[in-house]
Amino acid sequence: MKHETLKTTGAPSLEELRATPAFPTREDFLRGPIAVIECVEEIPCNPCETACPKGAIKVGQPITNLPIMDFRLCTGCGRCIAACPGLAIYIKDYTYSEDEALITFPFEYLPLPQKNENVTLVNRMGEAICQGKVKTVINAKINDCTTLISVIFPKVYFDDVVSIQRLPVEEICH
Ligand code: SF4
Ligand code: SF4
Repeated sequence: MKHETLKTTGAPSLEELRATPAFPTREDFLRGPIAVIECVEEIPCNPCETACPKGAIKVGQPITNLPIMDFRLCTGCGRCIAACPGLAIYIKDYTYSEDEALITFPFEYLPLPQKNENVTLVNRMGEAICQGKVKTVINAKINDCTTLISVIFPKVYFDDVVSIQRLPVEEICH
């Protein structure tokens, strides 16, 4: 069955993602920071294509095509992240350091983490898998209220990390 894991668990498996035309290979990740697009449903949508200043993302016609990526053009600038209404794009940098990787992802919850804060990173199922440190928290006007969080984490969890665990709501009131 197509996208079996997505349909039965709510999140695609790595195998399902690797079968999509925009998912990076190991070699692509060795280039440095690049966009990772986890878009597996053929829906009418293409703001990622128009947001990329380098022309690295192509949806084309029909608009229900899955996006495809030209990683030779991607600079990891992150402009496509907030443009995606499905929050399906993040940037990963496998080359950040010898033992650490960097992920930059959209975060639309409060409270926001702070720079240098230790946070718990999660996999596609929302399960906690490791600890990391917040490098930046960016609220740029161009991103239309979507905050971009960058977190440094152990490289050994590279394939599975996609976001961070939400912080306790009580912290908003203090
Ligand atoms: S990270 Fe920048 S260059 Fe790469 S696909 Fe997104 S918008 Fe284009
Ligand atoms: S904007 Fe997001 S949901 Fe829409 S096609 Fe691009 S990656 Fe998929």
